[in-house]
Formats: sequence, structure tokens, C-alpha cells
Amino acid sequence: MGSGSSSYRPKAIYLDIDGRIQKVVFSRYCNSSDIMDLFCIATGLPRNTTISLLTTDDAMVSIDPTMPANSERTPYKVRPVTVKQASVEGLKVVEIEKCKSDIKKMREELAARSNRTSCPCKYSFLDNNKKLTPRRDVPTYPKYLLSPETVDALRRPTFDVWLWEPSEMLSCLEHMFHDLGLVRDFCINPITLRRWLLCVHDNYRNNPFHNFRHCFCVAQMMYSMVWLCRLQEKFPPLDILTLLTAAICHDLDHPGYNNTYQINARTELAVRYNDISPLENHHCAVAFRILARPECNIFCNLPPDGYRQLRQGMITLILATDMARHAEIVAAFREKLEDFDYRNEEHTTLLKMILIKCCDVSNEVRPMEAAEPWVDCLLEEYFMQSDREKSEGLPVAPFMDREKVTKATAQIGFIKFVLIPMFEMVTKLFPVVEELMLQPLRESRDHYEELKRRDDATGEGPERTENLTSGSTERSTQKSRDVHNSQADRA
Ligand code: 5GP
Ligand code: MN
Repeated sequence: MGSGSSSYRPKAIYLDIDGRIQKVVFSRYCNSSDIMDLFCIATGLPRNTTISLLTTDDAMVSIDPTMPANSERTPYKVRPVTVKQASVEGLKVVEIEKCKSDIKKMREELAARSNRTSCPCKYSFLDNNKKLTPRRDVPTYPKYLLSPETVDALRRPTFDVWLWEPSEMLSCLEHMFHDLGLVRDFCINPITLRRWLLCVHDNYRNNPFHNFRHCFCVAQMMYSMVWLCRLQEKFPPLDILTLLTAAICHDLDHPGYNNTYQINARTELAVRYNDISPLENHHCAVAFRILARPECNIFCNLPPDGYRQLRQGMITLILATDMARHAEIVAAFREKLEDFDYRNEEHTTLLKMILIKCCDVSNEVRPMEAAEPWVDCLLEEYFMQSDREKSEGLPVAPFMDREKVTKATAQIGFIKFVLIPMFEMVTKLFPVVEELMLQPLRESRDHYEELKRRDDATGEGPERTENLTSGSTERSTQKSRDVHNSQADRA
């Protein structure tokens, strides 16, 4: 969809901020409060600041969707009035800070508790509805303004994903939508974008691996691939919007236990989705529950047909992240690669599926220092599951068993048999992937093979590997344990 349609045409207001002229654009769907927020952001004031606008001859201008448009030569002067502090009047700054830190601690405790006691069999949409409420504290812009260096680094797979706290990752995600022209092309209300992102963040759980930082990594890798592979020259804006949004939503409300557990334990999710990709169906349903809230609906300005296409596309992409379908999807794409045609929808859909799959499992593409901690996170989550499976008398996959797996064996098979072949296919369409993604993968494979040689030489078994706590001395020698990718998941 383009920005030319008159019914969606936004209004431009020019502000005079101490002599600097700033243009602010908003759609006719913004309410007065949204517009006030936008003006505060543009002015660099906190969002709860009340401002008034004056014309060049000092007449007041009411701030609402019908306010008269002006021009660069007749900007409105901005005057801050008060900072609304009614509810905290009388409290000293230190007391406010103390309250803030107490609330933060309570939140963390609650999150940890809900994570500890969370039972994948119990949660339901009803539980989720509570969590879907977005937080009110949309961060103020100046605090999270990204430096030019960060903005530049964000476009590459070498971006340090461990450096940032959640609010900064949210700002980066927000930047991606602006930078790719999606806010402009789809008339996304910038305040709604922030509320949506916060709500998405709140609906990722604090799992060791499947958490908000993983969501950020997958989205950031997708954003990198858009730039590296110049995807905007190959795909229309709606496809770019679909790719980025699906990446952000693809593991929403992941409970930390995989599909095999859901099916074997006959959880509520497995029953609801008849054992067919229960998790991915759930991630996608939660994504659309969030978007169904008017205050979080970043797609409210899409025409019905655009929304229909986007929804279908997001469903296809999120469902494609089920690794049980890996072989099937890779084979279908390989067939199209022989004679790839960007005008053929079947071909492009498969390419988009492969792209989100690549991003989903792309940790090893990142520099060693960024990639390695993710293996610990993944194993921690695997062991949480296998310990539970043992205690519940359910089957345990060898690649999840703390007595059978090491970091090296976990990675070697996955890199050699899942990652390298998939990225090699993508290289056929985008040669730049060879140097920037395949090369790091080969180096990582070599690193883990070397680590395995050292483990073997020193008799270092799974139970002694960093972060593994089993008392057993049995050591895995089976090749199948090297190839413990999730294709084996369903077996
Ligand atoms: P996700 O659950 O994140 O949507 O799908 C990706 C799955 O691929 C993960 O659950 C995990 O089983 C597997 N995976 C992703 N990255 C790695 C990795 O670096 N090493 C291994 N061994 N498996 C991975
Ligand atoms: Mn994922």
C-alpha cells in the first residue's frame, strides 16, 4: 500500500522550538492526547508535559485532530505549561525513586514467581488476556534516543545484542519501523507503535532462551538481512512489514517447553491445536490478540485487503518456524531455487519462510562472544524440560538430556546439518550472505569441533561442562547426539 491515498493522508504541523523548525506529521486517526505526545517528543520534552501552541502573532492554537495546518514559514511556537505531578505532589525525589525501585523489584519477583510456577498445561487465553494489558509507561523519547553509532551498527549481524536493556531494545525495534519507511507507508501511529511494542515485550516470558531478547535477536537479524540482501528492491513494503512483524511476534508467550513436551504431556495447548504445531499456533494467536486491542493496533490504517494479506503472511511465517517442518520447507525451497522467480508467489512465500527460519536460528551467525551465551541459555531451557520429563515419566530426547549433551555436541550437528545447508541456499539468491553469514558459521563450527577435541582429550563429559550439573559420568558417543536438532524433536 502506498502513502498516496487521500483518505489516509496525514497532516503536517510545523513547530518553532527555540528557533529550530520541526515538522510533525500525524494521521487523522490520532486523538488530541496522541498529538500532544507527538509534540512533546518532537520538542524533546517528557511525554507528561503540557504544552501550548502560539501562532506567530501569539494567538493560542488548540491541540486536536482538527487543528489548522500551517507551513514552514508560519510555525507554531511551543510553550511548556506544567508537568502533571498531581499524584506525586509532596513526595520527595528520593521517595519517588524508592517507590520506583520497589515496584521494579516486585515486578521482577512476580515475574520470577509466575515463571517458576507456570504450568504449560494451565495457561489459557483467559490468563493471557490479563497480561495483554499494555503498561502505561511508554518511555520518553530523549532517554532512549539512539546514537548514530547504534543506528549504524543495528543494520549488521555483528550488532551486540547483549548490551541493551529491554527499553533500549524497544527503541531499536521502534527505529526499525521508522527506518524501513513502514511508519510512513502504512500510516502507523508512532504512539500506537510504542504501545504495541511494550505489549509484545510484556507477553514474552522470562525463559532462559525463549524470551524477549531472543525476539529482539530474530527481529534484528531480519532487519540486517533486509539491508544486506537489499530486500526492499525485491519485495513490496507489505512483505517487509510482514517479515519484521512476524519476526517480532514469532515466539510470543513461549512457555519454555517445546512442542514434544506439549504433545506428550497432553497440555491444554496440544489439545487446543490437535498436536499440530501447538506452540507456533499459540504464538500467532497471541500476536493477533494483541493487535485486536485498538490501542495496540499498528495496522488500523491498512486497507482491508492489505490487512488480510498481512495476516495471512504472518500466519504462514510464524507457523514456518516449527522446526519439525524444517526438512519439508527446505526441500520445497530447494526445488524453487533451481529456477527462482520473484514474480511467482509460491516462490516468494517460500523465500520469506526460509528468511524467518534463518533469522530464528541465527545466533551462530553472530560473533562468538554474542553467540556463545545463547548456547548456555538453550541448554538451560532444554534441561529444565528434560528434568521435568524425567520426573513426569515422559520420554526424554537425548539432545536435551544433561547427561548426554555438551555445548560442543549441541552446536556441531546443528551448524553442519541445519544452519550451513540452509544459509548456503540463501547464498544462491544473495551472494553477500557467503561472507557475512556463512563464513562466521564455518568459523563457529571449527571452534566447536576444536572444543569437542579438547573435551574428548581431557575426558570432559557432559556432566562437567560449564553450566551442567549432573552427577553422572556417562559420556555420549552417538553421532545422533551430535545431530540433535529439532527435526528429531517429534521422534
Ligand atoms: P524457536 O523455538 O526459537 O522458534 O525455533 C528454533 C529452535 O531451533 C529452538 O527451539 C532450538 O531447538 C533450535 N535452535 C535454535 N538455535 C540453536 C542453536 O544454536 N543450537 C541448537 N542446537 N539448536 C538451536
Ligand atoms: Mn524463536
